[in-house]
Amino acid sequence: MLTFECPYCGVDADETELHAGGEAHLKRFGPDASDDDFEGYLFTRENPKGVHFERWRHVNGCGKWFHAARCTITMEVFGTYPTQTLRPPKDLLDAITEKRPGWSWRNVS
Ligand SMILES: [Zn+2]
Repeated sequence: MLTFECPYCGVDADETELHAGGEAHLKRFGPDASDDDFEGYLFTRENPKGVHFERWRHVNGCGKWFHAARCTITMEVFGTYPTQTLRPPKDLLDAITEKRPGWSWRNVS
């Protein structure tokens, strides 16, 4: 079972207290976007074997959305952080690199 520490209230919440919100850090496009950009936003998702960044909501707690980094193979959770960031925090990226040298995910590594 997955357990995440909510970065807002500090509670260790298991996945039954959370709601998965899909991939983190998707770039939204406005009405002037090209068809390809809008299609990519709507339908293109990563499905990595390894490090992945996701959105989760602490539904049965504070109710806030947060981001989490975890491994899709081992289910190891590398860390969580607030959603008000455009990129994962550097200390989290460094910790992942220490555990999984050579990893990559979209334009982050
Ligand atoms: Zn919370």
